[in-house]
Amino acid sequence: MGKSSLIKPVLGVEYPIISHGKGVFLYDAFGKEYLDGCSGAVTANIGHGVEEITKSMVEQAEKVSFVYRSQFTSDAAEQLALKLSDLTNGDYPWSFFVNSGSEATETAMKLAIQYWQEKGKPQKNRIISRWMSYHGITLGALSMSGHPVRRERFTEILESYPAISAPYCYRCPLHLERKSCGLACANELEAAIRRIGADHVAAFIAEPVIGAAGAAITPPDGYFQKLKQICEKYDILFIADEVMTGMGRTGKILASEHWGVKPDIVTLGKGMSGGYTPIAATIVSDPIIQTILQGSRVIMGGHTFSANPLSCAISLAVLNHLTKHNIAERAAIAGVYLKNKLHLLEQKYSFIGDIRGKGLLLGIEFVQNKKTKEPFPLVASITNTVIKLAMEHGLLLYPAAAGEEGVTGAAIIVAPPLTITEKEMDELVSRLEAVFEEWSEKHLLNVNE
Ligand code: PMP
Repeated sequence: MGKSSLIKPVLGVEYPIISHGKGVFLYDAFGKEYLDGCSGAVTANIGHGVEEITKSMVEQAEKVSFVYRSQFTSDAAEQLALKLSDLTNGDYPWSFFVNSGSEATETAMKLAIQYWQEKGKPQKNRIISRWMSYHGITLGALSMSGHPVRRERFTEILESYPAISAPYCYRCPLHLERKSCGLACANELEAAIRRIGADHVAAFIAEPVIGAAGAAITPPDGYFQKLKQICEKYDILFIADEVMTGMGRTGKILASEHWGVKPDIVTLGKGMSGGYTPIAATIVSDPIIQTILQGSRVIMGGHTFSANPLSCAISLAVLNHLTKHNIAERAAIAGVYLKNKLHLLEQKYSFIGDIRGKGLLLGIEFVQNKKTKEPFPLVASITNTVIKLAMEHGLLLYPAAAGEEGVTGAAIIVAPPLTITEKEMDELVSRLEAVFEEWSEKHLLNVNE
């Protein structure tokens, strides 16, 4: 390829040029077919090339694409807010639209801090989060993220928000057994709040199922209920980062529903538009907005493109498509089917240590030894090797934890569009099996060299 001025994620690497997509498949300029086994970045939830959505783009573009949110609202933005409120049973009647998941978590953080300012407690301004978490790449969101690799270059200018351990039962960070642990990782929240002082803590933020930092780490029952109780006891807001898990990905509209927990603030992104347009949202429970309404009334946040009618109309069409075709319910059923098939691979290959996740957000963790759970050395770049091989085999997978020496193992996320059929899931697993076959034949023997 000749000289190019586009900065790619990894400089010097050649990326295939994509031509088009349909359903769960993408096609590059050479006509090569890829089964989208990870919905891009766990985003293309309703699949590629849905005509209903492209129609909605044209319809809105013919009316108006952009108005500035400080001057106008639009039918599209109002209807989208209403749709999100309906989808969440009226628990979040307020929506603030932004352009990315990172901005949504930044907004959630700022709203939580503002809430306490309006209540006359400006010193309640710290956020507690967990190690093994990812809330975004902007500096506020990265400060909340317990993702060492993404933090390390910027450590000096980040706040040290991550404070408590993740519910990573496969390799418990507290070295406890699930049966007798008493959910000690959740209890760490109480200890952290006491250490910092409840008067200084605005909110606790967590992903219901940990995505990029851990490959679909799913907490045990009772974990989120306990965290919510602790938040209530110390008057601390609970923010659920549902950027990856929200809008049906785990088989429910919000993943927090699995545990019957209602966060005070929820962030959404990715599946909210299925990738058809950049849009994300911070959805907020009534008491928080009422407090601001009775106070300064101004929310210091937002961006030029926030709530632009074109993106709102597209997101609305995606969410209407989601409900019309019961896609969240279908994801729950498909998730069981796919997980069972992955468990069959787990029996076959000694390097699969754990299969986990909910709905169609599934994770595979690799080990050198199933019994001892010994992870591969980081230098072996297991995640990258598998992802690269998969691409050669026409299968897209999402790299999650690259593996942090002694803390996490190398892992990948399998998260196809929620519309995937059984036949397509069979095809996905058969391509994955071909990848594992080639990997064990050609690469696995050399990882310790
Ligand atoms: N939160 C979570 C849980 C995410 O998975 C991501 C993206 N991987 C983000 C926030 C950041 O979203 P974005 O990349 O759209 O800024």
